[in-house]
Amino acid sequence: MPVFDNYAPVVIQALQAKGLSGDCPMCKKNQWVVHEVPVSIPVYEGSGQVKFPGTSMPMAAMICRNCGFSALHSLGALGLINPQGQQGQAAAPAATDAPPANP
Ligand SMILES: [Zn+2]
Repeated sequence: MPVFDNYAPVVIQALQAKGLSGDCPMCKKNQWVVHEVPVSIPVYEGSGQVKFPGTSMPMAAMICRNCGFSALHSLGALGLINPQGQQGQAAAPAATDAPPANP
């Protein structure tokens, strides 16, 4: 899934930049991993309905490898989504990986 190349390291860097540290609140171990791709959480529309496909919030999932406790962090709040609603530069394929455009 090349579109998410380098995703987890960028998320970890963003979380560390916010000062996150610490053990799992459930088992008190420190065995966190960032899931390799974003998680999409469906949200309610203004109509009061949840549609699928519909509006969703892209999140980074941190999972405790010991007990499975999971935490979600908004990719928007971490600055990893651009204004067009697509993945930010960090999670997008590098420009050098793009195939040459056909004339
Ligand atoms: Zn745990």
